[in-house]
Amino acid sequence: MKAIAKTRPAYGAEVIELPVPRPGPNELLVKIAACGICGSDLHLYLWELGAERIAGRLPFVLGHEPAGEVVETGPGVTGFRPGDRVALDPFGHCGRCGPCRAGRFHLCAAPTTLSGAFAEFTIAPVANAYLVPPTMDFEQAAMLEPFGTGLHAVEQSCLRAGDSAVIEGPGPIGLSIALAARALGVTSIVVTGLGVDAERLAIAERMGFHTVAAGRPGWTAEVRAMLPAGGADAVFDACGMLDSARELLRRGGELVEVGWPARDVSSAELRALFFHGVTLINSRIRTPETWRRAIAMVASGNVDLRPMVTHRYEISHGIEAFELLRARGGLKALVVPGT
Ligand SMILES: [Zn+2]
Ligand SMILES: [Zn+2]
Repeated sequence: MKAIAKTRPAYGAEVIELPVPRPGPNELLVKIAACGICGSDLHLYLWELGAERIAGRLPFVLGHEPAGEVVETGPGVTGFRPGDRVALDPFGHCGRCGPCRAGRFHLCAAPTTLSGAFAEFTIAPVANAYLVPPTMDFEQAAMLEPFGTGLHAVEQSCLRAGDSAVIEGPGPIGLSIALAARALGVTSIVVTGLGVDAERLAIAERMGFHTVAAGRPGWTAEVRAMLPAGGADAVFDACGMLDSARELLRRGGELVEVGWPARDVSSAELRALFFHGVTLINSRIRTPETWRRAIAMVASGNVDLRPMVTHRYEISHGIEAFELLRARGGLKALVVPGT
């Protein structure tokens, strides 16, 4: 089978030929229908930010946001059979550590990570697989991973129907937060992004969200004019800048950090948030329960993830997806092996 792999500890990736893997105990062999490319794939492609952790595992097949069809089940598998449609969670939890025993699986002290889905087939432990209904197309199923991250962020906040939110960062996670907030009844939503995000902000507009280009003089006043007097109930930082929450939030509002902090935050800024009564929340990935709700929201038609998919590449052209992401082109690119 064809697969996109890191073959050298350096910039780049290549399309290689590998044998179709066989499922072990409690594993599924999944024929990949679509797999999203995300920022962490790009870090490995560029060989930066911790990429050396896979140096001993080359060739390393990339891709960890897949959906596809079960074609074979390993020994001991129950609950799945060939023909089932599944979305795969790249994060596994140990089930034994303190956070797992408290049901906080996203904070597992010994998580496992899956990769290997930019390929025609991949192996998945059953614990990482979620059944999706036959009515859900595979592209939306592949988008459940980022959508679940956005939904989890909204669920970590105290937002209720009729509330207001600002989402900074119009990437797949930011727009997933916006979709989840709208589905939960948040009525006043503004998505912001920088100049380089113009294409993504245009997509957000088409999805029905108000947008403001950030970074220009007076941009926070523009956002405030779209919110109830007093400011937003919650600001979601999906870009790691953490620099405008004080101006956008109402007193006592919530700042939910979803992107990795990308700059140093001064004590003066933290003090300003303190005196504004801001609650700081960090939101990481998702829980198994988030998957259940994300699948139901998309399957019911209440949330449509399709507008976020802007590019599709077959495996032999998959390297182009990395270069697109590097240039911040489009919104979400999928590798689609079957085409
Ligand atoms: Zn990812
Ligand atoms: Zn654990």
